[in-house]
Amino acid sequence: MKKIAVLGSTGSIGTQTLEIVRDNPDLQVVGLAAGGNIDLLEKQVREFRPRIVSLQREADCKALRTKLADMDVQVIPGMEGLLNIAEMEESEMLVTAIVGMIGIRPTIAAINKHKDIALANKETLVTAGHIIMPLAAKMGVSILPVDSEHSAIFQSMQGENKDSVSKLLITASGGPFRGRTRQELEHVQLEDALKHPNWSMGHKITIDSATLVNKGLEVMEARWLFNVDLDHIQVVVHPQSIIHSMVEYVDGGIMAQLGVPDMKLPIQYALFYPDRRPMAGKRVDFYELGNITFEKPDMETFAGLKLAMRAAAEGGSVPTVFNAANEKAVSLFLDRKIRFLQIPELIAMCMDAHKKIENPSVDEILRTEQETYERINSKL
Ligand code: NDP
Repeated sequence: MKKIAVLGSTGSIGTQTLEIVRDNPDLQVVGLAAGGNIDLLEKQVREFRPRIVSLQREADCKALRTKLADMDVQVIPGMEGLLNIAEMEESEMLVTAIVGMIGIRPTIAAINKHKDIALANKETLVTAGHIIMPLAAKMGVSILPVDSEHSAIFQSMQGENKDSVSKLLITASGGPFRGRTRQELEHVQLEDALKHPNWSMGHKITIDSATLVNKGLEVMEARWLFNVDLDHIQVVVHPQSIIHSMVEYVDGGIMAQLGVPDMKLPIQYALFYPDRRPMAGKRVDFYELGNITFEKPDMETFAGLKLAMRAAAEGGSVPTVFNAANEKAVSLFLDRKIRFLQIPELIAMCMDAHKKIENPSVDEILRTEQETYERINSKL
């Protein structure tokens, strides 16, 4: 029996993780954390019977305790709840499917208690990769990628010598606005941005895919996960999302991982690594597929990717500013308070105004996040 805890259990990755648990009786859930979705968390507790659960607010926890009065479960609010779940004695692996930098402290807490991490929460590595990766190495903990591109790279590295890697090729669908001009993006609506051509995901990451910010975050994530310089990471637009990413080796050979776009495969691979388990579902039919194509990303129209590359190159606290400004801008766009093209504009404004901290501590990262939010608020 493998015991796991899931942060962000009510979200897109969280619910798919629990579907995998449902299909694999040798997985047991011991802890679950969510933000505010009381009803779904109640259902999850009744089905998976974790020992500890968490919601963001105490008032919601109180309501959940009342609903679950017949169950033997501890309900702990906020960061205290996240940390308790991350550190649970009986847990072997923490699935970080929470969204945002709130994932940093629980991830560090779990690593300090020798839990392996199935990492979906890319913001943690983007902003605190310089803290997380050395700590994981020191504690002998594995960070297993859940993001499909990073899982593809990880799968393409199995049995290979890491010193022979010459380039990581991260594929991108190009999102719903691929091929559009800046002028055409002036007036795109929220509904259009939420229509991802291939993947079904949470709202925030779907908007990040439309701006190509997500690809930029993935470049930063890949750099930390695989210890590869930025110059050796290339983004390739591949609209069919069949090749999930590739690794080029020093002899010119390229290894790739292919499959239908379905997050359950990378989640399951992380949960059971190094084993592969059977999984039902669609398969790639190459006769039906016919062609797959590739393009260079348009970094002028999709300025979010260009800004991400700049943030990655500058390093220190700049990726935190990039990520926080994007989070705030995306939430304003989701609330219909700003236009689509204002997302990269706000990111650029925050990056230009920031005074870089070379090697930020967790406190400095979280302070930089708040300062960035405040900078945007003061401009509205
Ligand atoms: P969702 O928005 O679907 O889910 C987010 C989860 O986090 C929900 O369970 C939400 O709870 C919870 N949450 C939000 N805020 C808090 C908080 N303050 N305290 C506790 N829990 C909180 O996101 P996704 O599943 O799409 O993404 C999760 C992470 O995985 C992100 O970092 C994303 O970049 C990454 N990722 C996602 C992919 C995808 O296919 N979706 C692919 C690759 C990476 P509630 O709903 O109850 O409020």
